[in-house]
Amino acid sequence: MSRVELSGITKRFGAFEAIRGIDLTVEDGEFAVFVGPSGCGKSTLLRLICGLEVPTEGRIRFDERDVRGVPPAGRRLAMVFQSYALYPHMSVAENMGFALRMAGVPKAERAVRVARAAETLQITRLLERRPKELSGGQRQRVAIGRAIVREPSLFLFDEPLSNLDAELRVEMRAELMELHRRLTTTMIYVTHDQIEAMTMADRIVVLRDGRIEQAGSPTTLYEQPANRFVASFIGSPRMNFLAARVTRVEPGRVTIDLPGLAGEPLRIAVAERHGLRIDDAVELGIRPEHLSLEPRAHRLQARISFSEYVGGAWHLHAGDHPAGRLVLRHAGTPIHAGQALELGIDVAACHLFAASGLRVSV
Ligand code: ATP
Repeated sequence: MSRVELSGITKRFGAFEAIRGIDLTVEDGEFAVFVGPSGCGKSTLLRLICGLEVPTEGRIRFDERDVRGVPPAGRRLAMVFQSYALYPHMSVAENMGFALRMAGVPKAERAVRVARAAETLQITRLLERRPKELSGGQRQRVAIGRAIVREPSLFLFDEPLSNLDAELRVEMRAELMELHRRLTTTMIYVTHDQIEAMTMADRIVVLRDGRIEQAGSPTTLYEQPANRFVASFIGSPRMNFLAARVTRVEPGRVTIDLPGLAGEPLRIAVAERHGLRIDDAVELGIRPEHLSLEPRAHRLQARISFSEYVGGAWHLHAGDHPAGRLVLRHAGTPIHAGQALELGIDVAACHLFAASGLRVSV
C-alpha cells in the first residue's frame, strides 16, 4: 500500500524556485506520469519523493506518514533511471540481487526473489550473462528487475526508456503497463514524451515552470485541456491554434470571426465566467482530426503548403494560413502542395482560449 501526498511543496536551489507550491496526491496503485518540457521540475519532484532532495517548504506523506528526515533507503521505494548503471563485472543475477545482499537478505531467499523477478520480466535465460552481453532493452529490463526484487511499495521511474530505439520503447511501454497491472504497486513515471504519458498513465500531471498546469486522465487532458499550454503539449500532431476575434457575446456563447472563415458565423459555447468582451483577441483550438475535407456548415479556406504521408493517411499542412499554421489528417485521395481547399470544421469539438491562455469553452 502506498499513497503519496504532497502538500505545498516548494523547492529552491539558492534563489531559484524549481518547484512552486505543489499539492498532489498519487493514490495507492495509481500509475501517475509527470510530463512537461525540459527544466519544468519533473525530476526534482521525483527526487523529492524519493528523498534525494529535501523540500524547502511543504510536507510529503506516504500513507499518512510524514517522511521528512527519512532517507531514500527507508522509504520502501525503488527508482529506475534512464542510465541503468549496472555493475559490469557482475552477472544479471548478481546485479538483480545486489541490493538484497546489501540488506542482508539470506542467499536462498535472494535466489528465489531474483528468479521470480526474472520470470516476470522474461529474462530467466539471461541470468548468467554480464551486462555487456545484453541489448539495450535487456539491460533496461535488468534495471527494472533490480527494482522489482526489492518488492517496493512505490516505483519511481525517471525517463527509463529514453535510451532505447523507437520500436523497443513501444515494446517496453507495454511491458511496464503489464507489470503495473500484475504488481498493482503505485508507480510514478517521469517523461518529456507526451505519447508515453498518454499511453501509460492512469493520471497525467502536466508541469510547467515548477507548477502543475493540469492533472487528470489522458482523456480529460485531451478533451478538456485547462489551458492552451496543456492543449498544445498533449496530442500529436499538435492542436491548431487560430487567431480570432470576438464579435458577439450572448449568455452561454460567443460568436467569433477568423480570417479565411466561410459559411455561418462561428458560435462557441462558453463557460459562465468567460470574461470575454466584443473585440477581444481569442484563439480557436482545433485538433487535426476535427478538420476534414467534408462539407460542413463552417469551413476554412486554406492552401496546402505540403503533405506528409504517414501510412494510410496524410498530414496536410497549410503553413501560410492568415489565422495560423494548420495541420489536418486526411485519408483518401492524395492532396498536393499548392491545392486550395475548403476545410470543414467540427465546431462541437473545438476549444476557445482567452488571451490569458485559459480555456473558456465548455
Ligand atoms: P529534463 O526533462 O530536462 O530532465 P526536468 O523537468 O526533469 O528537466 P529538473 O531536472 O527537475 O527538470 O530541473 C528543474 C529546474 O531546476 C531546472 O531549471 C534545473 O536547472 C534546476 N535544478 C535542478 N537541480 C538543481 C540543482 N541541484 N541546483 C540548481 N538548480 C537545479
